[in-house]
Amino acid sequence: MRSIPIRNLKIGISGVRGVVGDTLTPGLLTRFAQSFGTYINGAMVVLGTDTRSSNEMAKEAVLAGLLSCGCPVVDIGICPVPTVQLMVTRLRARGGIAITASHNPAEWNALKFIRDDGIFLNAFQAQELLDIYHQGEFRRAGYRELGRVIRDDSALDLHISEIMKWADPETIRKRRLRVAVDCCNGAGSVITPKLLDLLGCEVIAINTDPTGIFPHHPEPVPENLEQLCDLVRRSGADIGFAQDADADRLAIVSEEGKPIGEEYTLVIAADFVLRRDPGPVVANVATTKALEDLVARFGSKLIRTPVGEVNVAERMKRERAVVGGEGNGGVIVPRVHMGRDSLVAIAATLQHLSEMGKTVSELMDSLPRYFMMKGKIECGPDTARAIMLELERSYRGERIDLMDGIKVEKDTGWFHVRASQTEPLIRISVEARTEEDARTLWEELMRRIEGMGLGG
Ligand code: MG
Repeated sequence: MRSIPIRNLKIGISGVRGVVGDTLTPGLLTRFAQSFGTYINGAMVVLGTDTRSSNEMAKEAVLAGLLSCGCPVVDIGICPVPTVQLMVTRLRARGGIAITASHNPAEWNALKFIRDDGIFLNAFQAQELLDIYHQGEFRRAGYRELGRVIRDDSALDLHISEIMKWADPETIRKRRLRVAVDCCNGAGSVITPKLLDLLGCEVIAINTDPTGIFPHHPEPVPENLEQLCDLVRRSGADIGFAQDADADRLAIVSEEGKPIGEEYTLVIAADFVLRRDPGPVVANVATTKALEDLVARFGSKLIRTPVGEVNVAERMKRERAVVGGEGNGGVIVPRVHMGRDSLVAIAATLQHLSEMGKTVSELMDSLPRYFMMKGKIECGPDTARAIMLELERSYRGERIDLMDGIKVEKDTGWFHVRASQTEPLIRISVEARTEEDARTLWEELMRRIEGMGLGG
């Protein structure tokens, strides 16, 4: 798979991602938009952005590229990535582009390419797009065939109404939950408080200015949730929610003001869905074993895929899965649409709490419990490759899974190591029944990697 990492620029299967004022230039964005417009043969595209300060610059550059290929463009403005995915299918567009660097800091921006079923381009399709980009032979519409921009302000309301149709708002309203939410001044700001309000919650929202100036790192992991935890404790909220900047991922904070761990967002959503809609579940290889145990309770099967939303979504489609996603807080419910959606996860969680009549802590006590540690080692692609090869050699003969990176099952738990597709680093996850076992596994793995003497 081709992936070209240059300093602060990554061109690969998840699209193009770079730093504004450095590598992510209007020219680059326009050429990628031309590539996409050529790829879909000048057909209709849905375009949305998150809240970053660079979005206007990026949007104009992308528009120029798409229009020059003759693509009609439906501009749905600032919205979550899942809203773009949903709108592509509802408008029967041929594709979509979301301008967002998701959980990356504010100086980054990126393009995500979406196909007509609302799923991102897969590796094969992304390669085709990259081939067009590198060949540079783009579709050129004459002055009579140029695309037009159609502004559509209805996308957020449509997204909300699709969720309200799927969930049971009456059940949630009866519970009158007090909900704290941190939108990180990202795309969730323009939709999440409204959804919660319509679900009859008492909403305590922070960081809902769609300014793109993030008050903290936008990745919804425990170390970035301090403000939300504090808010939950001070306000006596029943639950806290945190979204990343493009609002596809969700983290949950308990009524005690403690992060439950982003792995459990999908476990709770699966517990909710499987109770009313039994069927297969799909998750990536690095997602918590708690999901596996939970799915087994329902007599269903969990199918594992390589990491990456498209890998999960395509498999879900094939298996007719009822729910799936990734342990980073990404939940997909096909009955709504085929993308990871923090708003779907919010509705599922609230309805589950309402139906069970439990607090978040009580709900957690009813779920299989594991302790997961996640970390990363910053390193260039050559070092990353060397580490992966060396690990493969060093664990040969053990219970090893090479579907994506390396996963090794031990008696006390498992670990997974993988080179990131979007950043110059390798990601590590370790999970065991107890914190002690997880730490032991972690230390053993670190000793092996340090023993390789490869440096960063
Ligand atoms: Mg995201």
